[in-house]
Amino acid sequence: MENLFGLADHEDFFSRRCIWVNGPVIVGAGPSGLATAACLREQGVPFVVLERADCIASLWQKRTYDRLKLHLPKQFCQLPKLPFPEDFPEYPTKRQFIEYLESYAQHFEINPKFNECVQSARYDETSGLWRVKTVSTSGSTRTEVEYICRWLVVATGENAECVIPDIEGLSNFGGEVVHACEYKSGEKFKGKQVLVVGCGNSGMEVSLDLCNHNASPAMVVRSAVHVLPREIFRKSTFELAVLMMKWLPLWLVDKLMLLMAWWVLGNVEKYGLKRPSMGPLQLKNTMGKTPVLDIGALEKIRSGDIKVVPGIKRFSCDQVELINGEKLDIDSVVLATGYRSNVPSWLQESEFFSKNGFPKSPFPHGWKGNAGLYAVGFTKRGLSGASSDAMRIAQDIGNVWKAETKQKKRTTACHRRCISQF
Ligand SMILES: Cc1cc2nc3c(=O)[nH]c(=O)nc-3n(C[C@H](O)[C@H](O)[C@H](O)COP(=O)(O)OP(=O)(O)OC[C@H]3O[C@@H](n4cnc5c(N)ncnc54)[C@H](O)[C@@H]3O)c2cc1C
Repeated sequence: MENLFGLADHEDFFSRRCIWVNGPVIVGAGPSGLATAACLREQGVPFVVLERADCIASLWQKRTYDRLKLHLPKQFCQLPKLPFPEDFPEYPTKRQFIEYLESYAQHFEINPKFNECVQSARYDETSGLWRVKTVSTSGSTRTEVEYICRWLVVATGENAECVIPDIEGLSNFGGEVVHACEYKSGEKFKGKQVLVVGCGNSGMEVSLDLCNHNASPAMVVRSAVHVLPREIFRKSTFELAVLMMKWLPLWLVDKLMLLMAWWVLGNVEKYGLKRPSMGPLQLKNTMGKTPVLDIGALEKIRSGDIKVVPGIKRFSCDQVELINGEKLDIDSVVLATGYRSNVPSWLQESEFFSKNGFPKSPFPHGWKGNAGLYAVGFTKRGLSGASSDAMRIAQDIGNVWKAETKQKKRTTACHRRCISQF
C-alpha cells in the first residue's frame, strides 16, 4: 500500500497491519455507537465500529447492578429508527434494554470489531486522514492494527472509566472496597455494615438494594443534591418537565418541580439531603449534574434503614472517621463516585475536546469538530441526547458521501480496498 504519510512515520506505518476504511470509524459499541451506525446504514454509508470489550453495550452488560432499570420512561431511551417492543414496561429492566440493543444491532447489521481497544487516534494533516491505532490481545498474542479513515466518530461514552477518589487511609482499609460498576447485588453484603460513598442515582439505588438484602448501609452525602420523585401524580417527573419546558421558562419549571417535589416527598433537608441553590434543570444544564429520581431510597432514609452521614475524613483498618468526628465500624465500602470520559487518553486533539474529555461546545453544538471529527453521546442528556447526535452525524456524513459517490460513479470506479460493512 502506498505510504500516504510523512517520512517520520515511515517505519511505524509498515510495522503494523494497516486497514483502509471506506467511510467512518466509530469508536465504541455502546448505545451511541450503535445509534450512529444504524443512522449511517440508513444513509447508505459504510462504517467500521471498534469496541474494546467482547460485546455490545459493555457498560450495561458488565458494569451495572442486577436490579437496574432505565431511570427514564422508555420513550426517552429508545434509539433512532427502531422503537422498543410495545410490550416493554414503562421503565425497561437492564436485561430488556440489553435485549433491545442486541436486536437493534442485528436489525441494522452492525457487527463491531470486538476486543479492539483504541490506543490513539490522530489527524494526519499531510494526507487529510485519521489514523486510528488499536491493540487486541488474545492469550499471549498481541495484535496491533491501524485503521485509516476520513471520518472519526467518538462514541466512547461519558462513563468510560470509574472515578476512584483519593481518600486518606482507603488503601489500608481491611474490608472489601468496590466501585459501583463492580457491584451486582446486595446478596453478599447480608448482615454487613456497608459505607456507600456518593448520593447520586447509583449511590441511592445501591443503598436501597443493600437494605433489601438485609445489609445496613450508611450513605455519605458530601454535597447538596436534588432528590425528585420518579413520578408525580402517576406521570413521569422527567416527562412533566419536558412538557412544561415547551411553554414555560426554565427558572419557572425549576420552581414548579421543586414545589411538586416538596408536595410529594416533603422536606428532604431534615434527613441530611441539602438541596443546591440552583434548580434541578438549571444545575443539569450548566454543570451536567443529574437530579436523583427516587425509587424508594428516601423511604428507607426516613425509616432510618439507610443512614445519611457527612463527608469522610479518613479510613482505618475497620472504621471510617467522618468530618463531624463520628467514627463508624464498617465491613465494606461501595464507591458510587461516578465515571469519567477517557477521550484525552487516546485522542490526540485539543481543539474540539477539552481536557475533561467532553466537547468544548455544549449541547446541541458539541457533535461536530474539524477535519471529519464527530462526537456522539457527550451531551449529559442520556440516551435521547445520544440519539439526537447520531442522527445529525449520519446526515452530515451522508450528504458528503452521497454527493461524492454520485460524482465518482460519473468518473471512475473506486479501486481502494474496503473493509467496512456495507
Ligand atoms: C448505572 C447507569 C444507568 C443509566 N441509566 C440511564 C437511563 O435510564 N436513561 C438514559 O438516558 N441514560 C442512562 N444512563 C446514561 C448512560 O450513559 C447511557 O445510558 C448510555 O450507556 C451511554 O451510551 P454510550 O454509548 O454513549 O456510552 P457507553 O454505554 O459507555 O458505551 C461506550 C462504549 O465504548 C467502549 N470504549 C471505551 N473506550 C474505548 C476505546 N478506547 N476503544 C474501544 N472502545 C472503547 C466501551 O467499552 C463501551 O462499550 C445511565 C448510566 C449509568 C452508568
